[in-house]
Amino acid sequence: PYAGWSGDEILAKRKQFLGSSVFYYYQKPLNIVEGKMQYLYDENGKRYLDCFGGIVTVSCGHCHPDIVNAVVEQTKLLQHTTTIYLNQPIVEFAEALASKMPGNLKVVYFVNSGTEANELAMLMARLYSGNLNMIALRNAYHGGSAGTIGLTGLQTWKYPIPQGEIHHVMNPDPYRGTFGSDAIAYAKEVEEQINYGTSGRVAGFIAETFQGVGGAVELAPGYLKLAYDTVRKAGGVCIADEVQSGFGRTGSHYWGFQTQDVIPDIVTMAKGIGNGLPLGAVVTTPEIANVLAQKIQFNTFGGNPVCSVGGLAVLKVLDKEKRQAHCADVGSHLVNRLKELQQKHEIIGDVRGRGLMLGVELVTDRKEKTPAKAETNLLFEKLKDLNILVGKGGLHGNVFRIKPPMCFTRDDADYLVDAMDYAMSGL
Ligand code: PMP
Repeated sequence: PYAGWSGDEILAKRKQFLGSSVFYYYQKPLNIVEGKMQYLYDENGKRYLDCFGGIVTVSCGHCHPDIVNAVVEQTKLLQHTTTIYLNQPIVEFAEALASKMPGNLKVVYFVNSGTEANELAMLMARLYSGNLNMIALRNAYHGGSAGTIGLTGLQTWKYPIPQGEIHHVMNPDPYRGTFGSDAIAYAKEVEEQINYGTSGRVAGFIAETFQGVGGAVELAPGYLKLAYDTVRKAGGVCIADEVQSGFGRTGSHYWGFQTQDVIPDIVTMAKGIGNGLPLGAVVTTPEIANVLAQKIQFNTFGGNPVCSVGGLAVLKVLDKEKRQAHCADVGSHLVNRLKELQQKHEIIGDVRGRGLMLGVELVTDRKEKTPAKAETNLLFEKLKDLNILVGKGGLHGNVFRIKPPMCFTRDDADYLVDAMDYAMSGL
């Protein structure tokens, strides 16, 4: 049994010793003390089905034994030195990661988070192109540092500081976007932003293929190909932010960008790459990677032996357990069931995504698409009472984000949908 501090005590100390901007879920936040695969346990031993995986971070499952063992063994042997000495794990992991990438994306820089990965990607894009202006999507989330806050396209996460030379183009959101699924119209707007808002030359373009924080939005089909062409013509490099959508989660492909049939110039990763370890990576071509060689590049913890063996273990587990195919199978079952639920409950405006990267958007009026903010909050609490943890997203917080550890089963999916049905019936 749990012998630590109670949730109430922890909350009181959090309020005293952590910044008040550190937010939590639920009116009475949960004290989670243990995790096992797709389950989390609170201080009272109550078990929850985790449909959000620590914000899409737990890819293989909580405390997956292969990853735990790799980390423990490496920790006992050698925890840290940095890249000033040679050590096998970092290169072994880099080689394995590069083998998962298409085209000439073969050089890896390791960092510690998604924010850092996007900072580095933006730096490389600017140095390589010789230009400053970046293009990003509205409704995007790329980080909270002084640089990446500019890339992020949601006012909820932006502090009023200089936002850099960043232009936010219209979001190719098939549900809410002005042009629906018309990729050509959205791509045209990218061209216009470049022609009217910049010198005509840009450093680069960054996009998540499946917007996570923005509420599980899958970009209009064909958009990235057109946008990449336009940006490359203007001298820019194309960055895919795979922090949430990578590693087979979408089921049909290993990387989110592959669903749009493009090869980016730079790919950034974090979260699921480490199954909970603080780990991020930037993968690019040798040519682009070389722009950093005019100085020296150093990151104290980037690619440290412990995170590297952990990341390598993640890649192996995902292959061994055939998680991409599993995400496709469970995801299609879950989407079908959610679409059936949509027939029954008027409040479900949209069901979207693929694999285990899904969103359910709630509206009070299907025609006006009025965000059902209050109802979402009610259902969110209710689902928690039914032992189910989902995520929330979108500018208005009216989208349920369903992105569980990839070991999530069809039975788990049924349990989730039945619980949503029950909760919605009681509205
Ligand atoms: N990119 C995306 C798509 C993300 O979802 C996030 C985190 N929510 C980040 C970047 C930033 O990652 P981190 O919090 O690890 O800095």
